[in-house]
Amino acid sequence: MYFGSVRFFKHVIVGVTILLIVIPCVLCAVMAAKLGEVDAENEELKTEVAEYRVLGHKSEYSAEELFDLYKENLTDKEGFLKLASDYDSNAYNAAAQTEAKEEAIPVNAETKPAVTTKVTTAAGTIPAETVAPDDDEDIEFTGFETTEAHDPDEIITNVRPAYEMLYPDLYAAVPENLVYNADMDYVYLTFDDGPSKYTDSILEYLKIYGIKATFFVIPDGTDECAAKLRKIADAGHTIGIHTATHDYTKIYASVEAYLEDFKLAYDRVYDATGIKCNLFRFPGGSINDFNKEIRSDLIAEMTRRGFVYFDWNVDSSDALGATWTEMYNTVLKQTAAANRAVILMHDYNGGWNTILVLGGRVRALLDDKRGYKLDKLTEYVKPVQF
Ligand SMILES: [Zn+2]
Repeated sequence: MYFGSVRFFKHVIVGVTILLIVIPCVLCAVMAAKLGEVDAENEELKTEVAEYRVLGHKSEYSAEELFDLYKENLTDKEGFLKLASDYDSNAYNAAAQTEAKEEAIPVNAETKPAVTTKVTTAAGTIPAETVAPDDDEDIEFTGFETTEAHDPDEIITNVRPAYEMLYPDLYAAVPENLVYNADMDYVYLTFDDGPSKYTDSILEYLKIYGIKATFFVIPDGTDECAAKLRKIADAGHTIGIHTATHDYTKIYASVEAYLEDFKLAYDRVYDATGIKCNLFRFPGGSINDFNKEIRSDLIAEMTRRGFVYFDWNVDSSDALGATWTEMYNTVLKQTAAANRAVILMHDYNGGWNTILVLGGRVRALLDDKRGYKLDKLTEYVKPVQF
């Protein structure tokens, strides 16, 4: 008889032992797989946030998907903000700004000390003597400066960077006898990263309130984009250059790389609208974590070419997933604190926050007892720069 036999009990003991080993192992494997999935999801989200924040909002999500993503994550707002803060370019900017101030970087061509060195043919530079003005261009060539050699035995001359000779028609028309508008109660709404599917709505809002604003654009060269640029221009708003690619790593790799990207965007705006932009905004602002190496040279070169850049002194946080109330309060508080407020806002696919708050924000600014005047930026507005 098998049941009750010694053999039966042996089998029971072996069976139970195997189950005691196998069940926990299976459970462990299942849990590990689950945790792996959560990790993978978090990694994926981090990557998306990184792409969204750092690579200039170039997300493959549609506006609706982004809306859902943000809404979902905003229910765990603390967690989401922690996640986003790793990639928050404003945090990078704040750190970079502190560093830059410590380094006391010169901000324009006038204050930039002349580079004096021996004549050299090192890559990226050309000896001044070999450079001749191009008679065919209408750019006034003022010549290169030379300096006295401290040691009479050494031939020392100013060596100007080769990129100064690139794109000889890429110069801004600087108004003569420029006098800035000194009125402190002006507020300038600026929209970065457009045109987008939201541009029409933004233009509608601005039309309803009868105000002009500034669009720092990313023209992609398509007919659709060109049509929207024309619509912005026809409505009387200012178009400024933002970038063609918004790829921080690429455009801030060198002054040449930045100029190439800028020239592409500049030409596309000109082809679409006939406008030669004088104003621009650096992607990530003039001081960011990506342009450290070339920042002072780049700013000097763009300034030398007559282009004027605007940073901002009010961040609407519309790209940071803030709530309506937060954005509303931040804008009003920062605007009150800043004389001549330049407000950073966005016009890109996924910029649903901007659309949600734009009307209310504009209304609040217009209704404020201080009597703000909302207008577009021009070269007559004293630049707001970090
Ligand atoms: Zn941007």
